[in-house]
Amino acid sequence: MTRFSASGRRAKIVATLGPGSNSPDTIRQLANTGVDVFRLNFSHGDHAGHEKAYKAVRRASEILDRPLGILADLQGPKIRVGKFENDEIRLRFHGEYNLVEGEESTGEDIPVPHPEILAALVEGDQILLDDGKLMLTVIKTGKKARVRADTPGPLSNRKGFTVLGKEIPVPALTEKDKKDLAFACELGVDFIALSFVQTRADLLEARSLMQGRGRLLAKIEKPAAIDNLDDIVAEADAIMVARGDLGVEFPPEQVPILQRRVVRASRAAGRPVIVATHMLESMVESLAPTRAEASDVAQAIYQGADAIMLSSETAVGRHPATAVAIMDRIVKAVETDSDYWRSSNSFAPRSALPSSDADVIAEAAKSLAEMHDCDAIFVSTSHISVLSRFSRSRPRHRLITHAQDFTKLGHQALFWGVEPLLEAGPQDQNALMTILKTQLGEGTKVVCILGDDAGSESPGWRIEMMEL
Ligand code: PEP
Repeated sequence: MTRFSASGRRAKIVATLGPGSNSPDTIRQLANTGVDVFRLNFSHGDHAGHEKAYKAVRRASEILDRPLGILADLQGPKIRVGKFENDEIRLRFHGEYNLVEGEESTGEDIPVPHPEILAALVEGDQILLDDGKLMLTVIKTGKKARVRADTPGPLSNRKGFTVLGKEIPVPALTEKDKKDLAFACELGVDFIALSFVQTRADLLEARSLMQGRGRLLAKIEKPAAIDNLDDIVAEADAIMVARGDLGVEFPPEQVPILQRRVVRASRAAGRPVIVATHMLESMVESLAPTRAEASDVAQAIYQGADAIMLSSETAVGRHPATAVAIMDRIVKAVETDSDYWRSSNSFAPRSALPSSDADVIAEAAKSLAEMHDCDAIFVSTSHISVLSRFSRSRPRHRLITHAQDFTKLGHQALFWGVEPLLEAGPQDQNALMTILKTQLGEGTKVVCILGDDAGSESPGWRIEMMEL
């Protein structure tokens, strides 16, 4: 059996699953429309629900003959409100409310399942809710703290709760995260995303629990993660610019600057980087994005992001497939702009690179493909770190790789430009070439990079030009 991914787009699309999208039919529709990686958000839902969604994604991949990645996003030590009696309350401008200790509340009380936070509040503290959409001011402290709503709007179950400027020491992985991580690794997800990473040590702790299962993605959303960015990027397998929480921890005008910085650092290090959150937010309700949203998606692509992510748009939105289709169109439009090919490359200056054999070979393959007017570069390696260098070099030509192991295909689904080809069972070179000929067409000119793959990351390279 041979599977081949060819969306005609280089940057990848990540879509979050939720009540609006986690049925098998919708998952298949989203994959068909262009999703490369599905995100299971462990801040919501239960294990049984995530397992169903996981199986539906793997099944969709089989049916569509297309590799799909699965990313399990751990909740992390994010402080959230509990559950409301009727799932939601509506805050009135300058209305007063009680913050009550516990997982659930009645009436208009706001439940906070963290006594240590209620104890740390002082009069005048400002609280941001729902990724900063709503703001409260503390007007009285105590077991039942009293707050005033500075912004009106709906507040539903489990929305984020941040006290501005207050450091609350929390471990990198909560007990819930550890259980979720073990469960997600057991399921066989391709990526584990760690939320609220602050230091490299946070990643090491998660890695030791993962025991080599899946790849580790660091979400950049805390001031400490920005301070330790280079160490975190070096340790992680992939990075996410988590703009929802980043925009709660930093003022909005800092978010675009930090996004550029994180994308640049990830690109230079050859780590795939996802730009996430609020990309097409108005499409939770509307059938079309705002011009500003279209521009935001395009800017992330111009900056050189490997992937862009949909959150509420697909998790709870009314038009999940339309949101994916629009994102797909915006990305493809940018990728036809010659300016893109100049700007995306400038984000990974060669001088900033720790040079490896793979970097040099990737550049050579690119030059050869241009010189000989080839259609594609084919890389045969079982090392994802080697593949990352080819993706990082942003070739204009199609970048095709293969894997005999289904799990590796899921990892590759996040890399810019990489089109994974799966063949079952070991193949010799002739068999591989026959598969390529079937997939790409007779007469296609390919630069083939053949590593010996004997377990080393510096394999004995062979470069061959082929006309299939
Ligand atoms: C974010 O904060 O941008 C993010 C992706 O994380 P979450 O959706 O878990 O808040």
